[in-house]
Amino acid sequence: MSAPQYFDVAILGGGLAGRLSAWLLVRAGARVALVERGGPDGTGSAAHVSAAMLAPLAESAIAERRIVDLGVASLTLWRRWIEELPEPVFFQQNGTLVVWHARDRGELAMFTSRMRAVAPPEMVAGQMRTLDGRGVAEVEPDLAGRFTQGLLLQGEGQIDNRGAMRALLACAVSEGLQCVWEAGEIDEHMLTSFGIHANVVLDCRGLGARAAWPDVPAQGKRASGGTMPGLRGLRGEVVRVHAPDVSLRRPVRLLHPRYPIYIAPKPNDLYVIGATEIESEDESPMSVRSALELLSAAHSLHPAFGEARVLEMNVQRRPTRPDHLPSIRVEQQARVVRVNGLYRHGWMISPAVTEAACEVVRAMLNGDLAAHAVPAALRWPGMIEAVDEAAVAAVTPAASVIDGGDTIH
Ligand SMILES: Cc1cc2nc3c(=O)[nH]c(=O)nc-3n(C[C@H](O)[C@H](O)[C@H](O)COP(=O)(O)OP(=O)(O)OC[C@H]3O[C@@H](n4cnc5c(N)ncnc54)[C@H](O)[C@@H]3O)c2cc1C
Repeated sequence: MSAPQYFDVAILGGGLAGRLSAWLLVRAGARVALVERGGPDGTGSAAHVSAAMLAPLAESAIAERRIVDLGVASLTLWRRWIEELPEPVFFQQNGTLVVWHARDRGELAMFTSRMRAVAPPEMVAGQMRTLDGRGVAEVEPDLAGRFTQGLLLQGEGQIDNRGAMRALLACAVSEGLQCVWEAGEIDEHMLTSFGIHANVVLDCRGLGARAAWPDVPAQGKRASGGTMPGLRGLRGEVVRVHAPDVSLRRPVRLLHPRYPIYIAPKPNDLYVIGATEIESEDESPMSVRSALELLSAAHSLHPAFGEARVLEMNVQRRPTRPDHLPSIRVEQQARVVRVNGLYRHGWMISPAVTEAACEVVRAMLNGDLAAHAVPAALRWPGMIEAVDEAAVAAVTPAASVIDGGDTIH
């Protein structure tokens, strides 16, 4: 056992939510320890393999309105936070191009009608531009002559996930974050064996926190009294290729009835081609079927992908709650805050979600939660959930409980 050290906050898990929270909390003046089962390169996280697209309008075709709102708020935060990082991180807001092959044009009606049903009408009207073949060629010259129609979803973004993870960690460490790497599978009860004593624990272990999210009653017509896992993994597979003969300026989504894919261009001619979404906890390597689907779809988008070099074929599981929405759980008695369920939108929504989680943590640090209500509970009703009585008042939306008297800001 190491010599005891005392912290305001111990963060479990150094993936996306863990690093962002660490960065936010140390900059707010908290003493923070981060404990991660793997190494600083983050290779055990979903964040590491992700395409890191920030596409609230495109995702509204398959997500709920809350995800769209969190995504819009997070884009603003990313823009600001990227500027505040001491090292440059590739971040782009060039929009998303959506295309389809002529035989798949039926997919368009489905895609746009779902977007219209979920996203705010002014967002759809302001950001969605219909393109003809010439328009597609103007926005993506490399696709000239290949598609006769397209949609440009303006204002959408993407980020270099690995660069952002490196930069957030380096910056947080330079401001005092202490890290324990290769800690193995830990939970909040094991912190003292590393000599870590913390006022509050922030659990950001993604799928590794499964035991802390008990099963819930199944919803829906076929539920018949059964239960669903409170947190489950959804398998996703992505291919990373080096394709110097392709030159795309923004993420491109290909509508397809069986293989809807995206291709996200990263710096240095790298492209992330993804992603499958399979209801499975299987962590084994990518299947041949998935590799064929992803690579054939990329080749059908642009034949020069045929000469690309495959650098990585990655598999990870997205940490997913039964309602596919993010959740911040407050366990006031245990002094634990858990943030999870970022599912397929972690990069897109984590700024707003982790900012809210850090507000809860600060309220706990500064005294009784009930006396320091959490403004985020008003901004995002239903996202913050209290498991014990004492915390309920603080996270139940009611304007009268807002209090600005924090000492850690
Ligand atoms: C294929 C794929 C593509 C994706 N594409 C996008 C995208 O384009 N846009 C987008 O917004 N999102 C995308 N996502 C989703 C995004 O990556 C996740 O939502 C996000 O990474 C979840 O963040 P997290 O911090 O909760 O979990 P993670 O990023 O998985 O981090 C959890 C961390 O906790 C550590 N850990 C786990 N258990 C323990 C333990 N017991 N003790 C200590 N440490 C532990 C892990 O090693 C890991 O470092 C994608 C995900 C996948 C899989």
